[in-house]
Amino acid sequence: MKIAVIGSTHAGTAAVTNMAKLYPEADITVYERNDNVSFLSCGLALYVGGVVHDPQGLFYSSPEELQNLGVTMKMQHDVENIDTVRRTIEATNLVTGEKIYDTYDKLVMTTGSWPVTPPIEGIGLDNILLAKNYHQANTIIERAKDAQKVTVVGAGYIGVELVEAFEKAGKDVRLIDGADRILNKYLDEEFTTMVEDDFESRGIELAMNETVQRFEGTNGTVSTVTTNNGKYETDLVILCVGFRPNTDLLKGKVNMLDNGAIKVNEYMQTSDPDIFAAGDCCAVSYNPTRGHMYIPLATNAVRMGTLAARNLIEPTMKHVGTQGTSGLHIFDFNMASTGLTETSAQLLDIHVKSFTTKDKHRPGFMPTAEEVMLKVTINPDTRRILGAQVISKADVTQSINTMSVCIQTGMTIDELAYTDFFFQPHFNQPWNFLNKAGLEAQSQEPKRMPELV
Ligand SMILES: Cc1cc2nc3c(=O)[nH]c(=O)nc-3n(C[C@H](O)[C@H](O)[C@H](O)COP(=O)(O)OP(=O)(O)OC[C@H]3O[C@@H](n4cnc5c(N)ncnc54)[C@H](O)[C@@H]3O)c2cc1C
Repeated sequence: MKIAVIGSTHAGTAAVTNMAKLYPEADITVYERNDNVSFLSCGLALYVGGVVHDPQGLFYSSPEELQNLGVTMKMQHDVENIDTVRRTIEATNLVTGEKIYDTYDKLVMTTGSWPVTPPIEGIGLDNILLAKNYHQANTIIERAKDAQKVTVVGAGYIGVELVEAFEKAGKDVRLIDGADRILNKYLDEEFTTMVEDDFESRGIELAMNETVQRFEGTNGTVSTVTTNNGKYETDLVILCVGFRPNTDLLKGKVNMLDNGAIKVNEYMQTSDPDIFAAGDCCAVSYNPTRGHMYIPLATNAVRMGTLAARNLIEPTMKHVGTQGTSGLHIFDFNMASTGLTETSAQLLDIHVKSFTTKDKHRPGFMPTAEEVMLKVTINPDTRRILGAQVISKADVTQSINTMSVCIQTGMTIDELAYTDFFFQPHFNQPWNFLNKAGLEAQSQEPKRMPELV
């Protein structure tokens, strides 16, 4: 059996390592246009900020390691065409220019995503950079050395992580976003206001509700950013305005969402039974809505890549879907969210109700106790939990993994009120703050009692 894999970062590396073990007789070939595999982009801001000193720690595999599993690694090979009827692949060796033609019995598409680059005037100027792969991380570090005024465009989690890194490095930082607040896809306003206030207290300029209209340069290097509301001097711009799935190769050949994300079934199989796909090039099955969503995360990529390998020959293990669970540490704050926020529910036209509790993370007799704000969002008809968000200076983010399980298993807010959680004064209170969200829901609607199982 000939297996071709296109792309080898998280989804690809997970698929390849598993397939090499599961199908030792298979002839596996990996095509990767980059010169490395398995780069952990999640460490990019920490690397740029100097927290990570040894960049080798940002890789957990290598072409040599995969080669040693018996896999043929075609590094710096760009796949340019796939004929899904004849099951052929056309690629170019980016070093020699040589064209390669290959065939496959099974194709694993793990081509991931690429940062969106909006067609803004002046976008091609020098020092307007993207933040995705290892080479881009090194370019950012190099260019930041001589830059004092740094503009980050896009206030998602990558943008805010970079803002923190640049502020800590003593730069003058401005964060621009067309939305009215930062992190609006992950957290509701009462959470993001806390982080915005913290940013402003540190001198970070927030330009929310502003869209970039033009970049201008001096001698080919960016020097100003013009938005609908102002013109700002800058030495460096980092664009982090979202990701687009890299799926042009299969356009019109397998089913996709409107944004080009490949639709897979629970076995990671596309609408072409011999093509499997995983990671950022795919839509995921989103449990809170039971629909397809585009949520590019490394967590989804490693799970889907592993499942693509396990299900390649026959359906073996189903994907349980995702809640899009994510966490962030920005300056002194730890925050995490899972499932729907009120903002995302509104955008999806889903009727929800939320309960917010504030509590100290442990008893007042302890030397320190930090405030925790938790918000749980439910379907008011079924009482099922659809989302949760938490923020604190204490690290209570793992509680959101618990809430992710609650969503996945269809738990109600009433059941959460009396779920058994441990208590120990170092860590929490006799009533865990997750229980308290459930108790709050019951106190607002006292007739609702937990179902007896
Ligand atoms: C700065 C940053 C921080 C992040 N932080 C987090 C985090 O904290 N937690 C989290 O869960 N996620 C995080 N993510 C998201 C995470 O990195 C992605 O979800 C993950 O990289 C997806 O892995 P993937 O293998 O599906 O795709 P990708 O990482 O996009 O890899 C796709 C690979 O395919 C190759 N390729 C594409 N097309 C071709 C072709 N035609 N021929 C040959 N090769 C090709 C590419 O070169 C690439 O190596 C972060 C992302 C960024 C950019």
